[in-house]
Amino acid sequence: MNEVVLASNNEGKLREFSAILGAAGIRMLTQGSLGVTEAEEPHVTFVENALAKARHASLHTGRPALADDSGLCVPVLGGAPGVYSARYASMGGGGKSDQANNMRLVSQLQKFDDRRAYYVAVLVYLAGPDDPCPLVAEGRWHGEIVMTPRGANGFGYDPHFWLPARGCTVAELDPAEKNRSSHRARALDQLLSQLREAA
Ligand code: IMP
Repeated sequence: MNEVVLASNNEGKLREFSAILGAAGIRMLTQGSLGVTEAEEPHVTFVENALAKARHASLHTGRPALADDSGLCVPVLGGAPGVYSARYASMGGGGKSDQANNMRLVSQLQKFDDRRAYYVAVLVYLAGPDDPCPLVAEGRWHGEIVMTPRGANGFGYDPHFWLPARGCTVAELDPAEKNRSSHRARALDQLLSQLREAA
């Protein structure tokens, strides 16, 4: 079985990626289990941050590496919170929590009627630190932001992310259903096809 380093120590991500990539004969290891520290994420695009994280993991382990970067983009806010999704409120002087992020989002959207938004996940796979052709996969999940939170599942912006076709927020979806439809699931599907093609 091929071993790939996941450029994250998030157990939830490890489970999600292992379940899907395991079927393709890939065993995931976290970078933390190999003594690698977290990389900086200094860039203004998801793809650059994912590439920086994958390269850091591959460079320090000498193995193939997979990284992801994800967030929420609201076009009427110029794409914010974007790559700053996890720290949106703290960048505006607030706290560092999902609740504070959601409060800032709602307050920024008060004056706009166009509340369309999308989640995005970018995955980068590197065969080695000098791989000139990284595999890059992107998944998007479209919806709109509702001002009143609904539902208790999920995390982050899910209670405010409305799916018009389903008539509920992501936080009201069954978690298994979210894992089948999400931006991450879509990106993973794409990556899997690319890995199969490259094999
Ligand atoms: P990360 O890629 O796990 O670091 O996620 C970045 C941030 O984007 C998270 O902290 C959330 O604020 C937001 N985000 C990414 N994916 C989701 C999701 O599926 N639901 C809600 N928020 C998300």
